[in-house]
Amino acid sequence: MQYSEILIRYGELSTKGKNRMRFIGKLRRNVADVLTIFPEVTVTADRDRGHVYLNGADYKAVSEALSNVFGIQTYSPSYKVEKSVPALKKAVQTIMKTVYQPGMTFKVVTKRSDHSFELDSVELNHTLGAAVFEVIPEIQVQMKGADVVLRVEIRTDAAYISHETLRGAGGLPVGTSGKGMLMLSGGIDSPVAGYLALKRGVDIEAVHFASPPYTSPGALKKAHDLTRKLTKFGGNIQFIEVPFTEIQEEIKEKAPEAYLMTLTRRFMMRITDAIREKRDGMVIINGESLGQVASQTLESMQAINAVTSTPVIRPVVTMDKLEIIDLAEKIDTFEISIQPFEDCCTIFAPDRPKTNPKLKNVEQYEARLDVEGLVKRAVAGIVVTEITPEAEVDQVSELIDELL
Ligand code: ATP
Ligand code: MG
Repeated sequence: MQYSEILIRYGELSTKGKNRMRFIGKLRRNVADVLTIFPEVTVTADRDRGHVYLNGADYKAVSEALSNVFGIQTYSPSYKVEKSVPALKKAVQTIMKTVYQPGMTFKVVTKRSDHSFELDSVELNHTLGAAVFEVIPEIQVQMKGADVVLRVEIRTDAAYISHETLRGAGGLPVGTSGKGMLMLSGGIDSPVAGYLALKRGVDIEAVHFASPPYTSPGALKKAHDLTRKLTKFGGNIQFIEVPFTEIQEEIKEKAPEAYLMTLTRRFMMRITDAIREKRDGMVIINGESLGQVASQTLESMQAINAVTSTPVIRPVVTMDKLEIIDLAEKIDTFEISIQPFEDCCTIFAPDRPKTNPKLKNVEQYEARLDVEGLVKRAVAGIVVTEITPEAEVDQVSELIDELL
């Protein structure tokens, strides 16, 4: 028997009242987007459930892609079966014979949306349970905590049977919470922050500060590669490269060493905010983690944050480095993040940055610079690239085969 569809159960969106249909519509589009690489697959979504019809597509590959889509609580691969008692009996027998291991318990749970079907759900549970005993007489029924739960749904078009429930990515469908600008360095923390924002439904654009020739093309590529890893969770991402060389040189020349870092960060924040406004973002997201480095004391955060009243979301702020690394490994960004390409902050980093910068001093040093002009020029010089998911190796070789 071959799986014919994957049944999707929604996550928290079921509690969202009248926004529900908007959430479901978005989730359906997100699912369809990650599955465009399987042209035969079709996706539908109703109030309670989503359905991915495989139409012959490889179940494993589709399931793998689905496991990254936020807004899915659980999902079950299902078999489509003719809507008749003999067909259903035969199907549950075949399924149980393949999954049964000595000592296993089971139960049948039937749901009937087609109320004209000859048996009701209680009768079906009994009939199909009895069919299982015919082929595996020693099996036991267990109501709570059964090893195998055979879920049978009688719908208008056919009956569907599933026997396993897989855990989805949880979270909210990407895009249902609005858009935020992710400050993305080449480090470990900011890609994880981006992933966590996506998980709560925030659509992200990546803002990356580059200071060529002090920063190398390798550093830029690293940021691109990290962004590409994040597309797995929410589709294409706009990558915004900001020219930062002029600003860093100006600060280095005119401000005292101990304040370089604070001033640099304030510029980054201002520029990100200006880009956010231009591109209709609602929040800024960064990878700051409390106490990790000098710029991440509460005093520093306060001085840096003082340039804007836009909400700054810091998804990893209270996490330990090791917790962040665990997530970085899970989302497959860690190996890229530890590649040795210096980013703009490392190169201009003072030996001993101020951990408790005074706002009064900060403002006094900034008065030596043409803040507005510098910000304006940086914003005018941004380069926007759309980052798309990495092509699967198989797909590439298939494409090549097609061309030959
Ligand atoms: P990360 O691992 O994300 O680089 P970090 O622990 O190295 O973080 P910092 O270098 O102090 O911390 O940076 C703090 C945050 O500032 C980063 O998480 C990121 O959001 C932002 N940031 C730093 N450098 C850049 C950059 N070159 N471009 C964009 N954002 C940056
Ligand atoms: Mg960093």
